[in-house]
Amino acid sequence: MTSLIQHFMNGQVVSSASGRQQDVFNPATGAVVAQVVLANLDEVNAVVAAAKAAAPAWAETAPLKRARIMFKFKELLDQHHKEIAALITREHGKVLSDAMGEVTRGIEIVEFACGMPQLLKTQFSDNIGGGIDNYNLRQPLGVTAGITPFNFPFMVPMWMAPLAIATGNTFILKPSERDPSCALLIADLLKKAGLPDGVFGVLQGDKVAVDGLLQHPDVSAVSFVGSTPIAEYIYSEGTRLGKRVQALGGAKNHLVVMPDANLDQAVDALMGAAYGSAGERCMAISVAVAVGDVADKLVAALVPRVKTLIIKNGMEADAEMGPVVTAVHKAKIEGYIADGVAEGAQLLVDGRGFSVPGHEGGFFLGGTLFDHVKEGMKIHREEIFGPVLCIIRVPDFASAVELINRHEFGNGVSLFTSDGNTAREFSRRIQVGMVGINVPIPVPMAWHSFGGWKRSLFGDQHAYGEEGIRFYTRYKSVMQRWPDSIGKGAEFTMPVAK
Ligand code: NAD
Repeated sequence: MTSLIQHFMNGQVVSSASGRQQDVFNPATGAVVAQVVLANLDEVNAVVAAAKAAAPAWAETAPLKRARIMFKFKELLDQHHKEIAALITREHGKVLSDAMGEVTRGIEIVEFACGMPQLLKTQFSDNIGGGIDNYNLRQPLGVTAGITPFNFPFMVPMWMAPLAIATGNTFILKPSERDPSCALLIADLLKKAGLPDGVFGVLQGDKVAVDGLLQHPDVSAVSFVGSTPIAEYIYSEGTRLGKRVQALGGAKNHLVVMPDANLDQAVDALMGAAYGSAGERCMAISVAVAVGDVADKLVAALVPRVKTLIIKNGMEADAEMGPVVTAVHKAKIEGYIADGVAEGAQLLVDGRGFSVPGHEGGFFLGGTLFDHVKEGMKIHREEIFGPVLCIIRVPDFASAVELINRHEFGNGVSLFTSDGNTAREFSRRIQVGMVGINVPIPVPMAWHSFGGWKRSLFGDQHAYGEEGIRFYTRYKSVMQRWPDSIGKGAEFTMPVAK
């Protein structure tokens, strides 16, 4: 018997009557560990109705009281840190130390949301003329929803829910059906932290659930993180229906190694950023751009490292890389490796056919390294989302910048150099939303915002940080006057300061 992962509505776990379910795997063993229910439209309507009913009282709750719930939630997350990480490893496959890091990065957004009374402070102009003051408010939107990917089942929901809730909205999470358990743990801890019923709901499901939320007239805003085709669909459909939408999509992140870079540091950075989490990070580095004569040295240093990656069940303490998320995803990555070979890239390390003794059913792949990849090859054009690193050789810095700027994605990028001016020029000229200088994975901190450019983000507000606060609130301007004398009658000219 495996467990059934259900919805969470109105403060409690609710059984689905849809009759539709999907297997949830432990990627390290390949075993089915649970089934997740997939919502029908009645269940979409029920979770939205609960969120709508809770919205007015929650919006009227003082920001300080909302923040106190966030403080308590943070305390509970700290207490359950390892339990959450183990749940992530069990359903996603990433190694436990990496999952612990994911939880830390998620908790940091909760810490940011604890400062909501300060973050919601607005501006006030005293006496703009004639005894009139002008000030503004940032008010919640009502019912908001978040649709999240499999690769960060805790952190990405935390990019959304703490800010949506602490700004006074109610929030419905539609997690990935591939690793859906974290969402219920989040719901349980929010309830224990004192969050009123209905303010946070979990709707398990697939396209039916997503489309139901998108089309529901009572959902005011949708945050999405996932692949580009779905992000684009969510954005166009959601905005067509008059909703506010931020939709973060896929990526193809380059790391440029300049001839003057510290090679050991660049190689360490590439190993962690390309193969950490088996390459299943939207900020993973999947292309190393070797400038000038650095390429041969880089290849010589990388090959033995890729061949000796410690790949095993992520629960084992010394594992550097775990399995990929599903057998289907593994087959897709293997397909890309075959495409790279067919297109003429040089396969230096082939991760296909890799298996871990005792875990033969697990969805493991070895680290894969391609050299002499050319711009426009499928393995350069498309996001592989697996442990596959491509090396592209370019003659100079300008060619590296142009190569990256021509790519359809613009999520993250990194430059390794010891020259300040090169770094400065790179940061200014590169058409990418998040830039690392001698930093391989430049994921912004909670109080800066996260988001890519070009087809890595649809919408104009990035996730969390100040842009997150703006996304979840509506700006209102108020002018007030308290006349102490009888008015002088109607005025038909444009009001100006007197
Ligand atoms: P995905 O697009 O397959 O799924 C994301 C969400 O969309 C899931 O909740 C899923 O149920 C839903 N969904 C899937 N197909 C749908 C459809 N046809 N209609 C409506 N909803 C649908 O993404 P994934 O495989 O779970 O996650 C990996 C992707 O997410 C990668 O492309 C990665 O780059 C991206 N990602 C981006 C960021 C970012 O910040 N830009 C962060 C993490 C992941």
